[in-house]
Amino acid sequence: MSTELHVLVCGGGIAGNAVALPLVRAGIRATVVERASGPRPGGQAVDLRGPSREVAERMGLMPGIRARQLDERGMTYVDRTGHAYVRMPAEMFDGKGPVADIEITRGDLNQVLLDALAEAGGALDYRYGEWVEALTQDEDGVEVAFASGGVERFDLVVGADGVHSAMRRLVFGPEERFSTYLGGYTSYFTVPTPAGVEPGWMAMRMVPRAAVGIRPDADPATSKAIVMLRVDADPALRRDVGAQQRLIRRMLAEAGWLTPHILDAMADAPDFYFDELARIDMPHLSAGRVALLGDAGYCGSPMTGMGTAMAMVGAYLLAGELAADPADPVGALARYEAGVTPFLEKAKELPGGGLSMMLPTTRIGSMLTRAVTRLMVSRPLRPVMIRMMSGTDVYELPSYPLDSASSA
Ligand SMILES: Cc1cc2nc3c(=O)[nH]c(=O)nc-3n(C[C@H](O)[C@H](O)[C@H](O)COP(=O)(O)OP(=O)(O)OC[C@H]3O[C@@H](n4cnc5c(N)ncnc54)[C@H](O)[C@@H]3O)c2cc1C
Repeated sequence: MSTELHVLVCGGGIAGNAVALPLVRAGIRATVVERASGPRPGGQAVDLRGPSREVAERMGLMPGIRARQLDERGMTYVDRTGHAYVRMPAEMFDGKGPVADIEITRGDLNQVLLDALAEAGGALDYRYGEWVEALTQDEDGVEVAFASGGVERFDLVVGADGVHSAMRRLVFGPEERFSTYLGGYTSYFTVPTPAGVEPGWMAMRMVPRAAVGIRPDADPATSKAIVMLRVDADPALRRDVGAQQRLIRRMLAEAGWLTPHILDAMADAPDFYFDELARIDMPHLSAGRVALLGDAGYCGSPMTGMGTAMAMVGAYLLAGELAADPADPVGALARYEAGVTPFLEKAKELPGGGLSMMLPTTRIGSMLTRAVTRLMVSRPLRPVMIRMMSGTDVYELPSYPLDSASSA
């Protein structure tokens, strides 16, 4: 089947690639523009559970995911000497706790999607080092001016360009209008696995106002470092990697444990990522023939652990609605929004009171958080934790005719 519809997808992250895949499989022309010069590496483990796992299954991605799945057995909280004061094996929460039964690094999941896109063939035009400078829309389509100088017309544009989306700014207005700072920053980067790390286990060290952790990577020789900082927003940090790393060093100076090793390796990390913890709330997910997808339209911050799930579920619904009625793309966008909103409402909820509960500012607060963490893993409270972590499981994923095309 081939339709006349031609969709421009801005952003080649999880959201952009996950929508392009079912579109081209359904015979819809898709052009993807990614601002980076190639696939962006980086990011720690993301988990697939409930509806997002169902999407991965329906898209036929599970063999690729299983081949790259992380060997992650559980999570510990450690003190400054490395002693684990809380241990949470994955099976303690039936694979529905902080470590899900399917964990894969963000970069690897993106590669699985790119491999599937390469196999899908179809009418796909993928361009790196490209982005949209300006656009105007009328009743029948969208005229887009690209950074490289070309001007092209599309039937529909999807902004899947992340939490600081340029498409959102161009069409809906400045970021400040839709973004809420959640009180801190997060950073991820790859480091050589330090001696003393328990293979297959994620370990977190909490200190007042900050946390540092280490998490398994696909290659046992390397690990993913995680940093969370509770600090006032500082716009000067946006593009200043030196200032970002100085802040991390300062806030983790007293953390002990493996922190000196992690901080030493940070400067040479090939994939250092640092961003604010922010939430994006939009009054609507589309305006005319431009739709927002993933972090660009709905971000709950990495604290929810649901960014990838929202991107996958949103992509599936958007592609499904477009494929179901390619002659009415504007109607499809309205149905996409109506269908995905109940999922987003649950997925954007912050666990356990957000950053102020996670990262207290004083030693007494830290002791309290430690006590609460111990309590949460106690046998009587485990069902509560499972319920908290699987709040989106009640969402019923719609089915679309593209299911059969995708499982081919
Ligand atoms: C390098 C990286 C590492 C991450 N690591 C983690 C992590 O460890 N844990 C976690 O919870 N979340 C992480 N995230 C965020 C997580 O990927 C998202 O929450 C989730 O997967 C939804 O993805 P997305 O595609 O909407 O956004 P993103 O993953 O942010 O993808 C957006 C893509 O759009 C591209 N882009 C940006 N501007 C433009 C533009 N103007 N034109 C075209 N392309 C553009 C970006 O280069 C990027 O590839 C990371 C994001 C990135 C980019």
